[in-house]
Amino acid sequence: MNIDSIKNGIVIDHIKAKKGLEIYNALNLGDLDCSVAIITNAKSKKMGKKDIIKIDKSIDLDLDILGYLDSNITINIIKNDERVDKYHVELPKEIVNTIKCKNPRCITAQETDLTHVFVLTDKDKKIYRCKYCETIKEE
Ligand SMILES: [Zn+2]
Repeated sequence: MNIDSIKNGIVIDHIKAKKGLEIYNALNLGDLDCSVAIITNAKSKKMGKKDIIKIDKSIDLDLDILGYLDSNITINIIKNDERVDKYHVELPKEIVNTIKCKNPRCITAQETDLTHVFVLTDKDKKIYRCKYCETIKEE
């Protein structure tokens, strides 16, 4: 992969093709004052096609959101034109205040100031359940 355009920053790699913009929005990358590039449909030996996001700055990424959106993503940290670190994201154990429970009888539907929490109950099948009523999160 060509990382020449970044001196110090982050490359989010192996994003599922066409999902780059969703991740860009979820991480609020549009609010950054540095240059951010989304590359869509890049060729990938492993995946066929993939998206890549390059951020020309070292920032703290919300790894829980990334893991939740696409747990196959890899993060590359670039310093002085070199990759100094690379790691995978993981499915978060809990998703807090990102999705709402769809069960109309759930306590979160009545008490609107409650925190919405979904807990990972099956890592292999990626199943999350509402912490309060155990309703499975819809895809
Ligand atoms: Zn619920």
